[in-house]
Amino acid sequence: MAVLPPNVSQQVFSRALDRFREVVGDEWVFSSDEDVDLYRDAYSPSWGEPGERIPSGAVAPIEVEQVQQIVRIANEFSVPVFPISTGKNLTYGGSAPNMSGTLVLDLKRMNRILEVDERRAFALVEPGVSYFDLYRHIQDRGLKVWIDCPDPGWGSVIGNSLDRGLGYTTWNFRDHFGAHCGMEVVLPNGELMRTGMGAVPGSRSWQDYRYGYGPWVDGLFSQGNFGVVTKMGFWLLPEPDAYLSGIVSVPKRQDLIPLVDVVNYLENSSYIGQPRYRSPLGAVRNEPPLRDLLASNPFPDDAALDRVAEEMGVPSWACQLQFYGGTEVVQAMWRQAQQKLAEAIPGATFEDEKYYEMPMTEEQIANERKVAFGVPNLAIFSIGARSEQNPIPVDGHLDFTCVIPKTGEDFLNASRVFFDAMQGTGIVNSSGQYPFGPFLIPSTWHARNFIIIVGLPTYRTNTEANQKTRAWMSQLIELASANGWGEYRASPTFQDQVMGAYSFNDHALRNFLETLKDAADPNGVISPGRGGVWPDAYRFNRNTEA
Ligand SMILES: Cc1cc2nc3c(=O)[nH]c(=O)nc-3n(C[C@H](O)[C@H](O)[C@H](O)COP(=O)(O)OP(=O)(O)OC[C@H]3O[C@@H](n4cnc5c(N)ncnc54)[C@H](O)[C@@H]3O)c2cc1C
Repeated sequence: MAVLPPNVSQQVFSRALDRFREVVGDEWVFSSDEDVDLYRDAYSPSWGEPGERIPSGAVAPIEVEQVQQIVRIANEFSVPVFPISTGKNLTYGGSAPNMSGTLVLDLKRMNRILEVDERRAFALVEPGVSYFDLYRHIQDRGLKVWIDCPDPGWGSVIGNSLDRGLGYTTWNFRDHFGAHCGMEVVLPNGELMRTGMGAVPGSRSWQDYRYGYGPWVDGLFSQGNFGVVTKMGFWLLPEPDAYLSGIVSVPKRQDLIPLVDVVNYLENSSYIGQPRYRSPLGAVRNEPPLRDLLASNPFPDDAALDRVAEEMGVPSWACQLQFYGGTEVVQAMWRQAQQKLAEAIPGATFEDEKYYEMPMTEEQIANERKVAFGVPNLAIFSIGARSEQNPIPVDGHLDFTCVIPKTGEDFLNASRVFFDAMQGTGIVNSSGQYPFGPFLIPSTWHARNFIIIVGLPTYRTNTEANQKTRAWMSQLIELASANGWGEYRASPTFQDQVMGAYSFNDHALRNFLETLKDAADPNGVISPGRGGVWPDAYRFNRNTEA
């Protein structure tokens, strides 16, 4: 099933593979269909169709010098490579490249944890280090630092951050790219570069100060195709003394506006970690009288929803607030947060939830949402599983993840815009439900914006359903951009469309990136098309239809 790189004959490709074998050894170059199949995107929305991105093979080096040699050979033979760290980027492309025929550069074997400094709270790792690996390393040594991890703990600290992945503790650590400090990169010509203080020979501050001097280039390597990252530093959270959570509930729909304002204040001034919004009213949507109201109008006006909420004695919105800090500090912050919320929102009520002093016992952790404590796990994969409500589980999903401003007004408006525009399209999420309505919840991974997230179903055996998913995704991206919203991350099938929406001044941003790309990577050998940035040699591949 492997696909040759564009304009490369089987003969030339075989010669290139032989050269890669000389570098990494026979067993670390993969070209059989059976092996290459494992690098397909298991969640592809085009499984088995011509649009599916299929690699030409894979090569798995174990050290930086091998990566440099591979990149040089890639240039010599015009065989583009697609670096992955652990390649678990499910929902955003898995381990498959943007352009069929690209060879996967699998860095999983480069899995050394080079340093964890407890006093300065940082780690320096190679690409193959997973969240599980780093967590275990820290635990085994009894270090008083936490990691911030995404829901699936099997991904890599580097790969996740390079796709600007997100976690669940405090604002300055949840943004995984934002929490990095210092990179080592193999450039498209095979040269090795270090960024920030790493560029100063002998510096001991590589993981302390990320900017170094002069223009800061680290961003080019995130969602980008300017090099192969071989080391990266990350700031870690010092283990807090305590964790406390409480819930604020507010009665009316429009109360979301002051609620978001106060919660933003609490988060922006580092009172709280990730706030988690809920819709208690949405949780009773199948009970009368709300059920009857929704039967007559699936998106009633605010006054009607408020009347029913009052009648049922159920708050419109709630938000879980999580405090990390000193034992006395978290209690005081929760009290003060309640005071601020009560002043701003008449009828706000409060519930104490959890309180733990660190370190937590195994039993306490076992009963918790582990990611809130930086403990990697795979519990999230129970979503979309077979259940009474979901008799035919999906094979995968694609996430539509769009950035909107972090105000109650913006969120309420977006809820209505998506609901109105997508009605009649037949869109369903990966649980088979119409994803929009009055009970949509804003997602809060980012500190300064909300994300509206919708998981759309993908299948291995249902081409028709996949076609629908692609059409819905495309519609959602278009609708978002018509409203000034954009995706923060996307599966390869949609990266051109997403980048196309960042079009201010006739695509000045993309034009600039492609000018840099052509200068830094004249043969276009690193991840052509990644992030919607195409090198000249393969620009004909850009999807201009969507
Ligand atoms: C149910 C579910 C829940 C999820 N929850 C979350 C979540 O909470 N938070 C979150 O962020 N994501 C989430 N994801 C998405 C994804 O699974 C994770 O982000 C995962 O960590 C990404 O895979 P990875 O770490 O193996 O990265 P990789 O697949 O290795 O890398 C991601 C991309 O970065 C680039 N890249 C990787 N390594 C390099 C390198 N060394 N040099 C240059 N470029 C490179 C490549 O373009 C690659 O495709 C979820 C997915 C699913 C299915």
